[in-house]
Amino acid sequence: MKKFLFLLTLTTCSILAAQTDSRIYDIINNVSAERIKTDVTKLVGFGTRHTLSDTVSKTRGIGAARRWIKSEFETISSDCDNCLEVFYQKNLVKKGENSRITKDVWVNNVVAIQKGTKYPNRYIIMSGDIDSRVSDANNFESDSPGANDNASGMAGTIEASRVLSKYKFENSIIYVGLSGEEQGLFGGKGLAAYAKEKGWEIIGIFNNDMIGNIKGVDGIISNTDFRIFSEPTPPTETEQQRTLRRFYGGEVDGISRQLARYVHANVKTYMPEMNPMLIYRLDRFGRGGHHRPFNDAGFAGIRIMEAHENYTQQHQDIRTENGIEYGDVLKHVNFEYAAKLTAVNAINLASIAWAPPAPKKVAIGGIVEASAKLEWNKIDGAKGYKIYWRDTTSPTWDHSRYVENTTSFTLEGVVIDNFFFGVAAVGENGNESVVVFPNEIIKN
Ligand SMILES: [Zn+2]
Repeated sequence: MKKFLFLLTLTTCSILAAQTDSRIYDIINNVSAERIKTDVTKLVGFGTRHTLSDTVSKTRGIGAARRWIKSEFETISSDCDNCLEVFYQKNLVKKGENSRITKDVWVNNVVAIQKGTKYPNRYIIMSGDIDSRVSDANNFESDSPGANDNASGMAGTIEASRVLSKYKFENSIIYVGLSGEEQGLFGGKGLAAYAKEKGWEIIGIFNNDMIGNIKGVDGIISNTDFRIFSEPTPPTETEQQRTLRRFYGGEVDGISRQLARYVHANVKTYMPEMNPMLIYRLDRFGRGGHHRPFNDAGFAGIRIMEAHENYTQQHQDIRTENGIEYGDVLKHVNFEYAAKLTAVNAINLASIAWAPPAPKKVAIGGIVEASAKLEWNKIDGAKGYKIYWRDTTSPTWDHSRYVENTTSFTLEGVVIDNFFFGVAAVGENGNESVVVFPNEIIKN
């Protein structure tokens, strides 16, 4: 009896070991709140980073800020045997494009690419924003520290590149500072178009916009809550896809939503102290962010951000009114929290970049049968596959079945009508691709 128990324990341990990758814990530990603080302080020090601000000064304005970000990525690259390809991706936006573009302006994104060893053309992206603003969106001269919005996301992106550049990945990772966010999401639009033009296969983008405030206007203070925004289905889908969805389901299972679930599940596994909140919407009510232009281009993209915002510290002239201090200044940023959300990004970049590609085809069958059947295309480099399913009302993939050496499987006794299903590819170290919702029907 004793021997039996011992064996059982061993078996359990080996299963757990196969599901987690210890390098992920090292990545969490290596993210530095101190370095993020140094970088946010540096970015705030440029006075304003407004998209239309000075580009010539060495000390003030968006030109000085982007040159510093580029040089920072270059320094990081020189520490990893030039593992980062660093460049500006520029987009000319003409005066009058909208009411916030009051003169012609070059919107410069700072891009750093860590090329994948096996799938160099497959990219997972982390972004922050370079630009900032005050009360008047067109005021490019006043001090606009943008400490939380969005030096926090920018500093987090730089820090993630510092940590992850010490590793090699099969897929490529892009760390990017986007500009023109406050003027109309121009940097994201430019980079998404550039990606299409280059034929990049974009796995998805993690848009980090405000990852440093823990004290909300709602009175809640939390250094563990954070939000993952994702739209339900792609805006690029066809009328036919929309029609089919009526009969086969998928209203809450678009590519961005799967990416959001991926981040949620990975955080639950590796950072159980955190409270990730899946928010079933593109972004905050009526407000925008830089993942949207990627969604518009047909790419998966989510927004990762604090859960409790403080509006007196966003887009505000620095002032005191009725005893309230307005302005997005350094002292309101919680760097430990920004480091946690940076770790959230870093572990998900790493897991995805270490994982095999997701199956392109996932077919499902089992109409008027007792069992659901899944079929998918073989993925080179996949050790196995995980079939996921969940109650139709559940936001998360709660059930799974791991299989090896096959590209089809029948879930005996699981009735197709009562659940939603998906399939992910699993790599050698247990890192998984994003789950793919069925996109074909198996004909009987
Ligand atoms: Zn903003």
